[in-house]
Order: sequence, then structure tokens, then C-alpha cells
Amino acid sequence: MSPAPLPTDLNGIRRLDRDDRLAGFRAEFELPADVIYLDGNSLGALPKAAKAIARRTVEQEWSQGLVRSWNDAGWYDMPRRLGAKVAALVGAGPDEVVMTDATGIDLFKVVAAALALRPDRGVVVMEGSNFPTNNYSVQGLIRLLGDRHQVRFVEAARLIDAITDDVAVVCLTHVHYKFGHIHDMAAITERAHTVGALTAWDVCHSAGALPVDLNGCGADFAVGCTYKYLNGGPGAPAFLFAASRHHGQAWQPLTGWWSHAEPFAFERDYRPAPGIAQMLSGTQPVLSMAVAEAGLDIAARAPIEQVRQKSMRLGDLFLALVADSCEEHGFRVACPQDAQQRGSQVSLSHPHAYSIMRALIDCGVIGDFRAPDVMRFGLTPLYLRYEDIYDAVQVLQEVMDTETWRRPEYAQRLAVT
Ligand SMILES: *Cc1c(COP(=O)(O)O)cnc(C)c1O
Repeated sequence: MSPAPLPTDLNGIRRLDRDDRLAGFRAEFELPADVIYLDGNSLGALPKAAKAIARRTVEQEWSQGLVRSWNDAGWYDMPRRLGAKVAALVGAGPDEVVMTDATGIDLFKVVAAALALRPDRGVVVMEGSNFPTNNYSVQGLIRLLGDRHQVRFVEAARLIDAITDDVAVVCLTHVHYKFGHIHDMAAITERAHTVGALTAWDVCHSAGALPVDLNGCGADFAVGCTYKYLNGGPGAPAFLFAASRHHGQAWQPLTGWWSHAEPFAFERDYRPAPGIAQMLSGTQPVLSMAVAEAGLDIAARAPIEQVRQKSMRLGDLFLALVADSCEEHGFRVACPQDAQQRGSQVSLSHPHAYSIMRALIDCGVIGDFRAPDVMRFGLTPLYLRYEDIYDAVQVLQEVMDTETWRRPEYAQRLAVT
């Protein structure tokens, strides 16, 4: 079934919002009144429920419960319990995911475990243009392992052919952070398994934004963020998936006490915990984890197929409006035009992308900039309206028509863009 053609006039766009079955979710988030927020792929919005959780965790569990809260408030179980909630969103079993650490750290752990499972192989396949921390994590690991491995950097079009029988691990981000293209997780995983390699998927830009089926695709390991489309809050811990068939087969190397078989036996020597718990390392940021649960609970109630449909339409609308109204301003579409191939974002490139984005943000339209010349607009179906897209492109057109972006202050680089 293909959806009705997309209107680009304001009346038609308002009709889309009236018919939007996800529209009710917007009220669950707190958003500044004068902002159109197109950066939920960098930091998701605040779920209202998170504020009550933060208050309870600080004022009761910490203030009054103190150390007893590790038991009484369930702090100790959080990485497993919240991991199980994430698992339901990414096609994993409840005992295959933990919420812990940061994406880059979790990637280090799973690639290390995967390399240990393929001791006679030396190649890790990665997309060179991927978010750099993934490259850096793997490069650091390889250095630590004595430079016996190498990364084979390839770009999307050549991936399948690069997965040959010397490959130990294929380590890819499912949806590209900058250009938004989606890798075929099932086909690439199958290819990897055919040549005897393992896969480590990064689903930072997929979880909560589009259907992810880790077990359906046969994925071996995966990592992902909770502060993007899962709205977990700034610095919320990441999550780590290890397929149950690998549990107990290979260790992740950051073998802290939380990954020990009996942490409170305080034994001198390491013994791995059975199951997914071996993927933990140490004490987690309880306040961040507690707050992140609000976003996970919202995601659990949002039918992901509806989220995906709306996300594709928001992107199509954005691109259609830009094509109509900004034709002469020299933008190039830097993401797939075909919504099926595109994650939950649109990307435009422009020689003055940085200044234009700064001007847009000053006008209340918040997207972000990715060097050297890409403007990213994250599309978050749970709290964006179609009319927001219309308004955002109007502002973009105004910034271009009036050349506001040429103000010298917009060329000065800030620390975070
Ligand atoms: C957002 C993102 C990260 C974030 O890593 P942190 O360790 O949380 O800083 C890593 N990899 C990819 C592909 C991302 O999109």
C-alpha cells in the first residue's frame, strides 16, 4: 500500500497533522515554545515524565534511601532491567541487552569480544565516513592488541565485495550519522556469516526511529545510544547487545566487578558472569539511567511502523518544500531522496552550511552542522508536526532570501555544532 501523495500547501499539511495518529505523543514532551527542534538525532527532547523521575531519584532514593536504594529502589538491576526495555525496541531477547557505558566504550567491548571469537583473522571492515568515535575505538583496540589487525575502510557501495574470508568483524552503523543512508542489515550480516565473519552493528541512529530486528537479521553484537531518538537525556548510558549464542564464548575485556560471576564475593581473581552481565564493567550513573527510562517507556508505546511512516513523510515533505522554495540558493541534497533508503533525517550540503545553520538556530530552527559542509535536520515523529517542517523551510528560505546568514558572527565557530 503506498500512502496518498504528499500535499505541500499549508491546508493540506494541517490535514496531515489532524490525521496523524502519533500526534498525541507531542504532549508528553517539554519543548521551548519558540523553537522548531530538528536535532532530536543529536539530543532528544525532554519527556515530561523524566522530571518526576529525576526528583524522585534525588529527593527520595538518594536523599532518604541512601545506599539502601541499590536494593530497595532497584538501582543494582537497572542495566539489566532497562536493557530488557531497549531489547524490545531492537528485536532482541530480554537477556541479550544491557544499558551501560557509552557507545564508543560498548563498541570497544563488543569488537574485542568478536575479535577473540575469530583469532585467526585480522580484518575489521568499517565505513570510513562513519561517526569517527567508532573508528577511534576500534583503532585504539587494535593498537592495544599489538597492531595485529587492520581496519579495511570501505564506503557503502563497495561494502559487500569487501567482506571476504579474511574478515573477522564487520562493524557498521546501520544509519549513517551524516548522510542518512541505511545499510541492509540482513543482507550484510548474511554476507558476513557466509564468509565466516561476525557483525557488530551500531544502531545509534536507528533505535526508536525505525524498525530494527537484530535477531531477525542474525546480528552478533550491537551497540547504540539512548539520548538520540530514545530521548534518554544528555549523556544517558548507551546499550549493548550480544546474541545469546555468544554468551560465555568470548569475554569483553573491561572485566570490572560488575561483570564478575559474584561481584559481592570480592574474590581476588576474575571469573566471568554468565550471560549478558559479562558485558558490564562497573558502577553506572544511576541518575542518568533513571531519567532515561521515561523515554524508553514512551518508545515502547509508539508503534514503530507508524513512527517510520511518519518519519519518511516528514523527510519527503522537507525535501519537496526545499526543492520548491530554495531552488536558486545552491543546496544539494546530501541524503537519499528515496525515503526507503533514508534514516530519520535529511541532510543538505552548501558551501556556507555552517553560517546558514547558525542563522537558522538564531531564528529558532535548531538543526546541526557536520563538517565540512552538511546541515542535518533530525526528524522525530513523536514530537514534530508536519506544520513544523513547513515553518522550518519558510525560515530557511527567509534566511537565504535576506542573506542574514552572511553576518560575520555566524562564521565564528562554537565549541559544539
Ligand atoms: C551518536 C553516536 C555515537 C556517540 O558516541 P558516545 O560514545 O555516546 O559519545 C557513536 N557512534 C555513532 C555512530 C553515533 O551516531
